[in-house]
Amino acid sequence: MDELSHRLGAGQLYGLDRVLEPPGAFPQPAWRLDADPHAGPGEVLVDVERLNLDSASFHQLSQQAAGDADAVAAEILRIVGERGKMHNPVTGSGGMLVGRVAAAGEVITAARHVRPGQRIASLISLTLTPLRLRRITDIDMRHGQVAAEGTAVLFASSPWAALPADIPDRIALAALDVAGAPSRTAAMVREGDTVLLIGGGGTSGLLSLHEARRGAGAAGTVVVADLEGAGLDDVRSTGLADHVVAADATDALALRAAVTGVAGEADLTVNMVNVPGTELGSILCTRESGTILFFSMATSFTAAALGAEGVGRATTMVIGNGHMPDMGLTALGVLRDNRRIREIFEQRYGAP
Ligand code: NAP
Repeated sequence: MDELSHRLGAGQLYGLDRVLEPPGAFPQPAWRLDADPHAGPGEVLVDVERLNLDSASFHQLSQQAAGDADAVAAEILRIVGERGKMHNPVTGSGGMLVGRVAAAGEVITAARHVRPGQRIASLISLTLTPLRLRRITDIDMRHGQVAAEGTAVLFASSPWAALPADIPDRIALAALDVAGAPSRTAAMVREGDTVLLIGGGGTSGLLSLHEARRGAGAAGTVVVADLEGAGLDDVRSTGLADHVVAADATDALALRAAVTGVAGEADLTVNMVNVPGTELGSILCTRESGTILFFSMATSFTAAALGAEGVGRATTMVIGNGHMPDMGLTALGVLRDNRRIREIFEQRYGAP
């Protein structure tokens, strides 16, 4: 990266050259980006095939449109047209994409393995990816996957991964979008821990469940909390959780009673829900010297920090940075190693 920085400067390395509004901002917090479809020296131009909107964003768009797919498509086109990126102004979150490399600048071509025609998944958020959409051809209203035609630009600092040959696109895309959760869970869990996965029946939840079980081992305790329904049935069918708790995580006291009643307080809690208002429940389920990983994009920093203060807990709270150096390998590894989780992903994300 130092060599690239030296050759390109911050404008091409971090995408500052693409920021239109406000001047001087980085692309993620910027309001509007220049999505013109060309590749500067440090850029990769991608022909977009499919977007995976992050769950918090898609949930909000779907609710706003009362579940109407055409209205969701119109709103996505409106946001992208206005901002030059799929940065949901309500949730502040994005997602990621798959597509085919159309062109790459000379510096990035020399520095990284990238060639036109290659199919890749972006491992950075759509909230900072310059995007221009010509049209949306289909939306999977169950899971927020959007088939679209258009172009995107990746920067020299943007991580991306070649699409794996052994995992279908839709499934790989779903797993790679949340790849930071299993990867970070694997890095944080210790043998013998009590691990609580809130929203553990979802996409990131199932991948993290595998890693939590592996890391906590037979001496540890793995608890999954989610709303009652198909997600928890899937969790039960994996046989990986010691306890499966049906509870609404926005009801902090009820969640605490349900979780601590079966397993006591957690050493490590991973919050992966897609709705706001679950910070306090996470805090009350975790022992004071424990750690909470807030992977959910619906997490409020203020609610977490002031909530912990308000209930007198000095618990360590970690922001779920989506990027991990393994570039999604842990997430894809779960799909390769765990036959039941792979089956669930095929049922959920396979061809409609
Ligand atoms: P997902 O598949 O939709 O899973 C979310 C789970 O939370 C679902 O099982 C959902 O149940 C459950 N849930 C919803 N409301 C709940 C409640 N009140 N109490 C208990 N459980 C509840 O989402 P995902 O794709 O795994 O993503 C999880 C979160 O990570 C989202 O907030 C997403 O935006 C975020 N994310 C973060 C990053 C990062 O870099 N940190 C990257 C990508 C995604 P139902 O399905 O029954 O509603």
